[in-house]
Amino acid sequence: MQTNDIVIIGSGIACTSTLIELFNNLVLQNNPQNKLSITVIEKHHEFWKGIPYGSRSSQNALTITSINDFFTSDKERALFFEWLYANMEELHNHYVLNNGNTSKTWYENNRKAIEEKDWYKVYIPRFIFGKYQLLRFNKALKTVEEKGLATVNTINAEAINVEVTEGDLYEITFEKADRSTDKIKTRKLVVATGSAPSGEIVDPSALDDNILYIKDVYEPDTETNIEKIRHVLSGANETEKNILIIGSNASSLEFLYLLSGHPDIKALINKITVLSKSGSLPNHISNDTFVDNPLVNLNELKSKESFNLEALIDAARKDIKIATQDGVVITSSIDKIIGCTIEMLNQLDDDAKNTFFGIYGMQLSNIFRRAGNDYKGGAQSWINSGQLQLVKGAAVSLESADGLGVINYIDENRPAKKYDAGFKIVINCSGSDNLDCSSSRLLYNLVHNKLCKMNLSGKGVYVNDKFEAAPNLYVIGPLLGGNRNNRIYFWHLENASRLMYLAPYLAKELAE
Ligand SMILES: Cc1cc2nc3c(=O)[nH]c(=O)nc-3n(C[C@H](O)[C@H](O)[C@H](O)COP(=O)(O)OP(=O)(O)OC[C@H]3O[C@@H](n4cnc5c(N)ncnc54)[C@H](O)[C@@H]3O)c2cc1C
Repeated sequence: MQTNDIVIIGSGIACTSTLIELFNNLVLQNNPQNKLSITVIEKHHEFWKGIPYGSRSSQNALTITSINDFFTSDKERALFFEWLYANMEELHNHYVLNNGNTSKTWYENNRKAIEEKDWYKVYIPRFIFGKYQLLRFNKALKTVEEKGLATVNTINAEAINVEVTEGDLYEITFEKADRSTDKIKTRKLVVATGSAPSGEIVDPSALDDNILYIKDVYEPDTETNIEKIRHVLSGANETEKNILIIGSNASSLEFLYLLSGHPDIKALINKITVLSKSGSLPNHISNDTFVDNPLVNLNELKSKESFNLEALIDAARKDIKIATQDGVVITSSIDKIIGCTIEMLNQLDDDAKNTFFGIYGMQLSNIFRRAGNDYKGGAQSWINSGQLQLVKGAAVSLESADGLGVINYIDENRPAKKYDAGFKIVINCSGSDNLDCSSSRLLYNLVHNKLCKMNLSGKGVYVNDKFEAAPNLYVIGPLLGGNRNNRIYFWHLENASRLMYLAPYLAKELAE
């Protein structure tokens, strides 16, 4: 078995951003004697775009942050816009002409901001970024291949296990589409598998076969799932046409937006119920509104002689609530609150800091989950038509009655109760499971074989400031969330700009 220098598992933007930076390093070193053999293993048939920027997402799916905020580096932002302007007409024609009502409405709503280049206000279709990233990647790859500095092989399979073998090499077992398995060895291994797959809060196995259950809206892809919904609703009786969405995260809001662009499907639906612990969807972003004194609670705490982590979180939470009233997030205030919280955290000990990055940071972020105008408009259209109901509660179990799915849930008035409507369609939009019980065989095995240690967040793994979970076993992507070291200090890494920011540092480690 041939040994690779580097194997990367997962080919999303965490992988491509790292490889682009690595290739730039190789070109600078210009040493063909050290030609690197690299293999990338990807379980989806489409390489280099990951879930958000490729065909698993609809072409109508938009960036969650404005395109201006998509980049941390001014240089990267400038390069992207240079490319965008050069290709604007072609992109516009391709997108608007091929993507139905949603794309036309998107363009009309954003035309003024686009013409005025007010990119803080525009949330672009994500596939456009996927196209751009692929061009950058292919260009960098061509250069290193032509110069004889690296070879890149691809394997279309799911990596399922990793073991350490003789010579401190990593041996990766992967499963192909026909379920046969094979192995590959490497000196350096990079895990770039994105966020852990969505968990299931409730077991769907009690649902009758005639009830459509969608475990993950991006599997096989959102457009196929929308077609399945159309098909099931077309054949259902009038009283059955209800949809239950479990979870109100970004993918839940995105799916409501995408569905709202299909008037024919909308006309088939009686009611969509979104059941979630918060009972609300991500908030609307406002760049224009201000809070007079956004740090009222934090400043009061600051004036005290000393404080502990719990008091700091409490004050931050109260200030965030003031800055997120009536479904609107006031971005400038949130930035100040988070900045002040981090500054005050510096006065506390390492334990407190680690707990903040592992646990509380994400809890604070969850209070001000945000989305742009287009997505909020999509959800609002369901509210305006009286078809959307947001229910606050925790799902307990699913069962079937009279051919429909029934959900039992707990709200503030315990014990568990049945929701008063049955559903023909149930859509799971809950977040990832903790890694020690992940449905990803790879992540489960990495944690249980003790090659990676789950960090306090439960959704990420501990790494050192060289991105290593174990010697020569590197991690890049959302799995880094919850770490705090000299290089990586983020509680939330489901964020393209932060991943692009980190990629050059990992590339440097891989090039050595
Ligand atoms: C639907 C969606 C929309 C998002 N929108 C935005 C946005 O607008 N702005 C933003 O900043 N961030 C957004 N994010 C956050 C996102 O985490 C990052 O932007 C970024 O895409 C993460 O890149 P990645 O390469 O780490 O993960 P991914 O894009 O998820 O890519 C990981 C790849 O690994 C593959 N893989 C997983 N497990 C295995 C395995 N065992 N074997 C082989 N292959 C495997 C997957 O098939 C996938 O292609 C979004 C995330 C999602 C899911």
